[in-house]
Parts: sequence; structure tokens; C-alpha cells
Amino acid sequence: MEKSADIEISEQILKVKVGQVKSLAVVVSEETSVYDAVVTMFLEDVGTLFVVQSGGILAGVLSRKDLLKATLGNSEINKTPVSVVMTRMPNIVVCTLEESVYDAARKMIEHQVDALPVVKPLDNSGRLEVVGRISKTNITKLFVELGRGGISSFN
Ligand code: ADP
Repeated sequence: MEKSADIEISEQILKVKVGQVKSLAVVVSEETSVYDAVVTMFLEDVGTLFVVQSGGILAGVLSRKDLLKATLGNSEINKTPVSVVMTRMPNIVVCTLEESVYDAARKMIEHQVDALPVVKPLDNSGRLEVVGRISKTNITKLFVELGRGGISSFN
């Protein structure tokens, strides 16, 4: 029996992997000041920064609102490290290169966040190396590409 077009489309969408659409991660260290993180967010034109320890190990996430909140009524933003305001491990929702973009999008909706770090587990210690970033913008771009040219360019 012929498969319905709907099933075919959903099967195709599930084949697009995070590794095919991810962007470069913009990272700062835990000692970075809130001031420098705000500057980095503007210069790099991203809405989410990832905080890493040496070796690119994921330690935290900084959103626009985290930084806005940290600057309100704080005259010491040059001295306040981002580690004070970031969302930290193990409370970070992540995805991997091999995961489907559909799963990543589902996690973003479920956890109400704008971006996920793309990670590689390093060993059994639970440490995760940051290898990229996937955001709602990546998903929107994919949606537009799929509408324009079909799914074949992604598989
Ligand atoms: P904004 O705060 O700019 O609307 P988000 O909705 O992405 O951006 O972030 C909301 C909160 O969730 C922030 O406190 C942020 O630190 C946190 N957050 C962002 N991304 C993640 C993630 N992948 N995993 C866990 N927490 C996150």
C-alpha cells in the first residue's frame, strides 16, 4: 500500500539532524564580567551565550533576560562574574549532533528556551564539550529552506 504524503513528510523531517543546521557556539568563561558578556552578545549578534570551563566544558547558559536582570540596579557589572547569574549545569537542556532537529525543537518548546548547546559527552564523568548551538532561528531558517526547495537538500 502507498504511504500517505503526511507520513512521508514527517519521516523526511525526522531525518534532518542537528549537525546539519547548527551554528557556531559563542562562549565565555565563568570569570567573564556581566559587562563583557553583554558586549559579546551584541558583537556576536546572538541571544544566548554558553559559559564554558577550560577545554570547552559546558558550565552554564546566559540568555538576554539573565543579563538584563543582572544589570538592573547593579552598578558593579564590571566586577560581577557571569557565574553568579547564569543557569548552570546540570539544569541545562542540551542536544547532540546526531539528534534530530525535530527533537531539539521539541525540547526548546517543552522547556521554554530559545537555544540549546550542541554537546559531545567527553567520558563517563558527565562532562559535556560544547560543539555548537541550535536556536529557534536555525529552526526557522530550516523551515524556510524546506518550503523553498524541499527536504532533499538536507538528507
Ligand atoms: P530569554 O530569557 O532571553 O527569554 P530564554 O527563554 O532562552 O531567553 O531563557 C530563559 C531562561 O532559561 C534563562 O534564565 C536562561 O538562562 C535559561 N536557559 C536558556 N537556555 C537554556 C537551556 N538550553 N537549558 C536550560 N536553561 C536555559
